[in-house]
Amino acid sequence: MPESAGWQAELEELKAVSARIGSDPLLTQGAGGNTSLKVGGTLWIKASGTWLAHALERDIMVPVEMAPLIAAVEAIDPAAEQAHQFTIAALNSSGLRPSIETTVHALMPQRVVLHVHCVDTIAHAVRSDCIEQVGPRLAGLNWAYVPYARPGLPLALAIAEHRAQRPDVLILANHGLVVAAETVAKAEALLDDVKARLRIVPRAASGPRLDQLVQRAAGTGYRLPQPEAAHAAATDPQSTGLAAKGSLYPDHVIFLGTGSVIAKDGEDASAVVARLGTSPVSILFPGEGILMRDDATPGADAMARCLADVLARLQEAAPVRVLTLEEHLQLTDWDAEKYRQDLARRAAAKKTA
Ligand SMILES: [Zn+2]
Repeated sequence: MPESAGWQAELEELKAVSARIGSDPLLTQGAGGNTSLKVGGTLWIKASGTWLAHALERDIMVPVEMAPLIAAVEAIDPAAEQAHQFTIAALNSSGLRPSIETTVHALMPQRVVLHVHCVDTIAHAVRSDCIEQVGPRLAGLNWAYVPYARPGLPLALAIAEHRAQRPDVLILANHGLVVAAETVAKAEALLDDVKARLRIVPRAASGPRLDQLVQRAAGTGYRLPQPEAAHAAATDPQSTGLAAKGSLYPDHVIFLGTGSVIAKDGEDASAVVARLGTSPVSILFPGEGILMRDDATPGADAMARCLADVLARLQEAAPVRVLTLEEHLQLTDWDAEKYRQDLARRAAAKKTA
């Protein structure tokens, strides 16, 4: 492909859109979400661990050779989860590694792909009746529902099943949203459209009881969360009831741990830690708000707010599907080799079925 100014200008345009997406906590939280542009056989994709919000200040895009990556997915080869093996060193000025979700982008044929952890989408995508909920709202769009699969090779395989349909919109169960188009402008317009179609008016929660929380944190190694909106997971009783059900999506597990820890009546942070025998990243104090462990990362704080934003868009009686024990283990105790074998077995079973 020509090294013309055309695609470089488009990459700059993508960075500007990435920064906009990254600065909206209702679309991305911390290092979550990623964007990409295909130039011939090269995929420019956000680097792992970087924030979309920093797209204009830092070098966050990494060039990856697509053909061997897609071949690895097709061969159900765990190398598909090691996209850094396929980075084009000569063009990779940052030396960063591509996102774990690189295969999601490579498998979409459209030139521009935006993947976001949109809270309105997630509030639909955690429901067992998601398809019935979003179907009427997405009428007229070429969209597909992808059942939950762990990010990496399992998610890539689940998406690959829809390739013939060439969808422009993917609703990833218990995860988020993917939109794809031929230009950056069209992709951004599609994202805005889908976001508006899936919008849910959040329940208003009462404010945090900061004096009470400060007392419960004193001398315990816990602190107030950065975004004040994070308290709503504990100040809204319906949200707290939903949080008690378990983990709703992978980034919650990765940044905050399994499920939500809810303090019992009268407990301060150290009483909760003593009861559990471990120090959770965040603790919900019903009716008061939440506390974060002193060493919680900015990404964890962003994820605590994401939880509040998602829960505020769900009724307590909604048919919510939480991640299973096995799905938690896949995220926290993940062994690529066990996986390769498991996937190979499943593929073999499919062939003989
Ligand atoms: Zn994701």
